[in-house]
Amino acid sequence: MSTFQAPKGTYDLLPPDSATYLAVREAIAAPLRNSGYGYIETPGFENVELFARGVGESTDIVTKEMYAFETKGGDRLALRPEGTASVLRAALEANLHKGGNLPVKLWYSGSYYRYERPQKGRYRHFSQVGAEAIGTEDPVLDAELIILADQAYRSLGLRDFRILLNSLGDKECRPVYRDALQDFLRGLDLDEDTRRRIEINPLRVLDDKRAEVQKQLVGAPLLRDHLCDGCKAYHEEVRALLTAAGVAFEDDEKLVRGLDYYTRTTFEFVHDGLGAQSAVGGGGRYDGLSEMIGGPALPSVGWALGVDRTVLALEAEGIALDVPAATDVFAVALGDDAKRRLFELVTELRKAGVATDMAYGGKSMKAGMKAANRSGARYALIAGERDLAEGAVQLKDLESGEQEALALDAVTSTLRARLA
Ligand code: AMP
Repeated sequence: MSTFQAPKGTYDLLPPDSATYLAVREAIAAPLRNSGYGYIETPGFENVELFARGVGESTDIVTKEMYAFETKGGDRLALRPEGTASVLRAALEANLHKGGNLPVKLWYSGSYYRYERPQKGRYRHFSQVGAEAIGTEDPVLDAELIILADQAYRSLGLRDFRILLNSLGDKECRPVYRDALQDFLRGLDLDEDTRRRIEINPLRVLDDKRAEVQKQLVGAPLLRDHLCDGCKAYHEEVRALLTAAGVAFEDDEKLVRGLDYYTRTTFEFVHDGLGAQSAVGGGGRYDGLSEMIGGPALPSVGWALGVDRTVLALEAEGIALDVPAATDVFAVALGDDAKRRLFELVTELRKAGVATDMAYGGKSMKAGMKAANRSGARYALIAGERDLAEGAVQLKDLESGEQEALALDAVTSTLRARLA
């Protein structure tokens, strides 16, 4: 038994399942690459203040779940719990917003860290692919991002997901609503923790999953009835654009998000086969975040989709992605001289773009062929001293079992043609 195990709340991605993760990342990124989003990569850790902004609404989730630490040099850093703040920080730092070409559209893919209570679909280390459109207030952008996420999920074959949509208002109407909601919530019979939340982040109370809380929330004031005209018109436009694009959504007046900087459009993708951790992705507009981190006013919108949960959603729907075979050709040599020559051929095939592997370590022919079959390769290349003396190798089609001799100098072109 190995002494070490993966830390609590984490898991390793191993072949062959890891190929599905790569394919999911690719599938989410593809519509973004195709729509003017440029790739951005930021550090895995940031100054802790980037995420823990003062007191109030922001600290509710993020600080509690953050991996924060002090470095030997005395810097207070945190492993990133989410992508948006980092991407905006990087864009501001590099003055991307001053290039005169707004919005700045970026996409990213990486690991995120939250000190959560682990369960299926909820980990302490997880993967997201995300997108941000920075610096422009335009309902077309909100719609575009939702449509691209929908497209990504559909390209994976997913069907049992729903899009929940809401508007959180802006700095005009949200505070008025917040007061009204607080008045209502303070009159309820709630535990101490929840009462504290009323004062810090009352919208989050609407999100409480407990039945005894939900029962009392009937009749709570709804943001919908408090939206200012500007927010109302904006939201109607987003809804109309989605409808015109044929993207179905559900209005969910109670949808609020864990992170405090969201304004106006907010949305979540939920999958019905996932149980408690049903959110596969989410996002929205965050018009106030730039100013919160010391930048100019830059209205922006974005989302992050969870790779881990998307993989679980595929499993729930019984979808096996058609991932290309890792190996097309597998070479088996008999004897050291043959191995040397065959290795040259393998290198040549690899250079020519043919996915090729071989038997190592002086395996017998039988063990070598077993390895060839296990690799999933379509063809085996087999060579002994006699074949090579004749300038040939044996090419075996592992599907049909047919075998033929092939001149050494014809191997690459023949295999390339057959595998094309
Ligand atoms: P959030 O930033 O909380 O809106 O998260 C966006 C997406 O990331 C969620 O919809 C999940 O798919 C995924 N996600 C968030 N937290 C976790 C976690 N602890 N474990 C796995 N996936 C997560």
